[in-house]
Amino acid sequence: MLRQIPRLIPILALILMPVLQGCAVNPVTGQRQFVLFTERQEIEMGRQADQDISASLGVYEDPELARWIDEMGQAMAAESERPDLPWTFRVLDDPTINAFALPGGYIYVTRGILAHLTSDAELAGIVGHEIGHVTARHGITRVSRAQLAQVGLGLGMILAPDLRPFGEAAGAGLQLLFLSNSRDAEREADDLGLGYMSAEDYDPRAVARVFEMLARASGAEDGDRIPGFLSTHPDPLDRRDRILARTTGDDPEFRGTRDDRDGFLQRLDGMIFGTNPREGFFRENVFFHPDMAFRLDYPRGWRTANTRDEVQGVSGEQDAVVLLGLVQEDSPSAARQRFLAGQGIETIGRSDQSVNGLPAASAEFRVQGENATFRGYVVFVRHQDRTFRMLGYATQASWNARQSALSQAVRSFQPVTDRAILDVQPRTIELVRTQNQMTLEGFHQRHPSPTVDLTTVGVINGFRSGDVIPAGTLMKRVVGEPLPGGE
Ligand SMILES: [Zn+2]
Repeated sequence: MLRQIPRLIPILALILMPVLQGCAVNPVTGQRQFVLFTERQEIEMGRQADQDISASLGVYEDPELARWIDEMGQAMAAESERPDLPWTFRVLDDPTINAFALPGGYIYVTRGILAHLTSDAELAGIVGHEIGHVTARHGITRVSRAQLAQVGLGLGMILAPDLRPFGEAAGAGLQLLFLSNSRDAEREADDLGLGYMSAEDYDPRAVARVFEMLARASGAEDGDRIPGFLSTHPDPLDRRDRILARTTGDDPEFRGTRDDRDGFLQRLDGMIFGTNPREGFFRENVFFHPDMAFRLDYPRGWRTANTRDEVQGVSGEQDAVVLLGLVQEDSPSAARQRFLAGQGIETIGRSDQSVNGLPAASAEFRVQGENATFRGYVVFVRHQDRTFRMLGYATQASWNARQSALSQAVRSFQPVTDRAILDVQPRTIELVRTQNQMTLEGFHQRHPSPTVDLTTVGVINGFRSGDVIPAGTLMKRVVGEPLPGGE
């Protein structure tokens, strides 16, 4: 997180280009459907959102794994109805269990979902499903419908680029993700995906295991891995049953046999598991950043998120936010000057008082949004050759109630010297081959994963409590320490 990234052109600007395309022929069904975009616009929209997503969520750095997944995806996409799209497959550095597609042929799997899979065929099933969303133009019709509803609402608050509407936590590209597909679209993508993976000789029954894993993981306790993949999808067990019913007959289309556990798991050896604390982490309401050696205390009880370019906190009532980010200026006062020169910003007061011993420049301001007036504090602090910006603001109506919490939060920036924080390391996946036959409980005892429970060990390995694991089975365990900094 926290890299200096220029704000990207909001995708909404592109969406709102006054081009009504009317009908287009759906590449999968051959039927005409109402869409707002040509294929070229679809690709351009995907390309811009891809930049947004890659910047906000981050691409996982494992070139070999990336190349392998790209090869798998390209092979399946070549079998699809739209082989000529600029297909792009990425692994996102994100611990949540997720996979999604953008218009134009951009497909993402998170390292979180990879950590939960046990064979190449399972991954092929997921990638094939997402390819199906693109070939059937689900995303684009989805955007079209959402867009139709949105035309007339305007672009929202863009008076001051630093101030965004509450709850709009992420870049415009990410908003595309929150538009969910219909059940019919999911079934269609499931069916298309089965076809693409079968064409590459993968065993389609592996997909049933994926849905089982999703069902189990969504019931698991580990709160920071709630699978977003599920929230927009129909019940995974229904989909499992449907897929089993389709593929267990003697249909020659579904006779693929590729389903390689060992080869796949070996690609995950050493992969980061869960949140990577080197990129900053929360303990309760406190944000710690080990590489940049600082902490910031958010108000208690707020909802927080750590994205690549910003750390966000939103009040429960969504009437106030605190945003932490980096700016390019070397001096806090130069940074403050540029901020206050922003369009629509009215300065109420300034201060050059230091913050916890660090050089700082602060200001109180007011800004007129399209629908409301906001009031807030901005604090720029210089620490270890970087200039940080803490921005806290609330609606004018809730200013009195929020003022003191905001003032405290934006001035809570302080250096960290605790070695336990500075030296924290991510947890990783380690592979173990069982010497003897044993139960899952026996495996967990013999090869412990100190920070995850038995259920999770079972889910990531595809075994259940009481299952007997044959001798010679390659298994994952999670090694590493729990996060420091608990209070
Ligand atoms: Zn889907």
